[in-house]
Amino acid sequence: MKTSQRPNILFIMSDDHASHAMSCYGSRINATPNIDRIAEGGMRFDNCFCTNSICSPSRAAILTGTYNHINGVKSIEDHFDGRQVTFPKLLQADGYQTAIIGKWHLGHGGLADPTGFDYWTVVPGQGQYYDPIFIEMGIEKQIPGYVTDLTADFCIDWLDKRDKDRPFMLMCHHKAPHRPWDPAEKYATLYDDIDIPEPETFNDDYATRSQAVLEAKMRIDRDMNDIVDLKSLPPAGLTPLEEKKWKYQRYIKDYLRCVASIDENVGRLLDYLDREGIADDTIVVYTSDQGFFLGDHGWYDKRFMYEESLRMPFVIKYPRDIQPGMVTEAMALNVDFPVTFLEYAGVAVPPEMQGRSLRPVLNGTVPADWRTSMYYRYWMHLDEWHNVYSHYGIRTERYKLIYYYAEALGTSGSIEENRPPEWELFDLENDPYELNNVYRDPAYAELLPKLKAELRSLQLAVLDEPVQEVD
Ligand code: CA
Repeated sequence: MKTSQRPNILFIMSDDHASHAMSCYGSRINATPNIDRIAEGGMRFDNCFCTNSICSPSRAAILTGTYNHINGVKSIEDHFDGRQVTFPKLLQADGYQTAIIGKWHLGHGGLADPTGFDYWTVVPGQGQYYDPIFIEMGIEKQIPGYVTDLTADFCIDWLDKRDKDRPFMLMCHHKAPHRPWDPAEKYATLYDDIDIPEPETFNDDYATRSQAVLEAKMRIDRDMNDIVDLKSLPPAGLTPLEEKKWKYQRYIKDYLRCVASIDENVGRLLDYLDREGIADDTIVVYTSDQGFFLGDHGWYDKRFMYEESLRMPFVIKYPRDIQPGMVTEAMALNVDFPVTFLEYAGVAVPPEMQGRSLRPVLNGTVPADWRTSMYYRYWMHLDEWHNVYSHYGIRTERYKLIYYYAEALGTSGSIEENRPPEWELFDLENDPYELNNVYRDPAYAELLPKLKAELRSLQLAVLDEPVQEVD
């Protein structure tokens, strides 16, 4: 039998928690002291990116280490086929105790139920904040309480019952801070007496940018009208700008209150590892399934390849192998996570996994052949709620090239109605907020063929197929 030298893995993931709402990433709007303990105890990744910035697809990529055209979860309407190879299955087969607790969001019943876990209890679909239903190993139960607290309670219960002679891999998946942003009662008045600062691009006028940006329904001023999200209507008599600011304060405060509960419960899990004396033997990760617009570009939501949505928070500690207080700019992807865990567990990585182990980076050396660009693809087209065009693109260390091909291509959850395709190019060094699309700027004309060749190369490397592109 392999011994306890193999690390335990505690993978904590929330839903829609952007890194610019974490103090270890320099948040201007909140503090997350417990998540910061993970960053301070190990490494913070400043360029961790999602291969498709939306919930279920990112979750499928993390389980399988593959892009969504391979794992079949291109949109939130697709269910996961549990017959696929996943890292929990491989760890389970190699002696790990495995569990997933909290949000699953990859379908329910038949092939879509979680596989590769000794124990699972998950909320159906998006789940509820208060008195949520959990499906425990196929049996539905409604449980009184607040979902973020309950998720951590169940994690601690499971850890308490573990076999201490074998390593564990626990996925603690929080529902929060996904909309409708219902805070716990204890945090209901947090931030009541202050105004949260607005982001730099709060009043973006979208000049120079694509029709895709104009048509997207995620503007705080125009599209945030759901009473379930806002809790009450704006007061009468406000100017349009005053109303936008009011909605932002309502939204961001509830979002950050939800984050406060997550941070508290991350602390409870870290304290548990300390009490049990297993903190040194445990890899702890905190991440989110993607980033989120926190009023950036006047938006809420995700989906776009823009930085705030593309970037995932990713902090990791493992005292036996990772020095504390490290920060890296090396580009990491969600498909790297399972490969990294398998390597640490000493389990062979299946060739179909498309990520790369982060271990050399975690040990302080970025390999000479490490990636300097990444491929992204958002498949849903004109979905009912947010109306975002389908697109793909690449991000290099300095540039971002996006092609809105704007077709459904049969992707579930899409509307089969084409739009004229469009390109966007951003020079992130000169324009870190992505306000100035320079695709037609002659100064970048020589660069374009190189970026398009790189896009093609990355796309083919992950076995995806380009559409017929127009200039
Ligand atoms: Ca999400």
